[in-house]
Amino acid sequence: MTGGIQRLGMFGGAFDPPHNAHVALVQAAMAQLQLDELRVVPTGHAWHKARVLTPARHRLAMTRLAFAGLPGVVVDDREMHRSGPSYTLDTLREFAAEQPGARLYLVMGEDQADALPSWHGWQDILPIATISIAEREHPTRDDAGFDPAKFPQGRFETLRWPPMPVSATQIRALTAKPHNTAQEIAELVPGPVARYIEHHHLYLAT
Ligand code: ATP
Repeated sequence: MTGGIQRLGMFGGAFDPPHNAHVALVQAAMAQLQLDELRVVPTGHAWHKARVLTPARHRLAMTRLAFAGLPGVVVDDREMHRSGPSYTLDTLREFAAEQPGARLYLVMGEDQADALPSWHGWQDILPIATISIAEREHPTRDDAGFDPAKFPQGRFETLRWPPMPVSATQIRALTAKPHNTAQEIAELVPGPVARYIEHHHLYLAT
């Protein structure tokens, strides 16, 4: 790992597939949190997702394509090499050991923050990392959003960005439609990711 890192970010996800909101969110986090490096970490076996994920090699390849060329952003495939479930807590502990003295930031969308109490070892994550939360639009949700007051032991920062109503679920559903248009998908994912999906015939069934 690169030396001299003082502010290290982590952004985990299934990235099935990675999309434009992921990329915009990472760019906002780099700028606002003044990160020296941000690790984008595709999950291996996602314990919290009900569906079976696309094979790791495809998700990793697409994640590399999506984040290529962003200064300071490194795609880190360590969770894909872990047997069993991949836990963010374990990854953060590894980062803390590899970069003693670095401040850790865990970047996530508001839906993940809302689910924080269901995360494996969430009480142990709070002392290790500042959690940086990006607003996510929920057309069906009527509550006021994530409430940091429920976690007095945590450090939270709101990520300022123009919320983007994009999800991987929506992209998979669009791709599976019999008469999908490449144009619709091209508006939601980076160009190289759209071409990868097409070339490898991904998401043709939901
Ligand atoms: P799916 O629709 O399959 O659940 P997703 O679009 O939520 O996928 P993930 O790979 O599960 O994508 O998300 C990785 C991280 O990105 C999570 O922290 C999630 O909250 C965040 N994220 C994804 N899309 C958005 C968005 N539009 N706005 C804010 N955060 C987002």
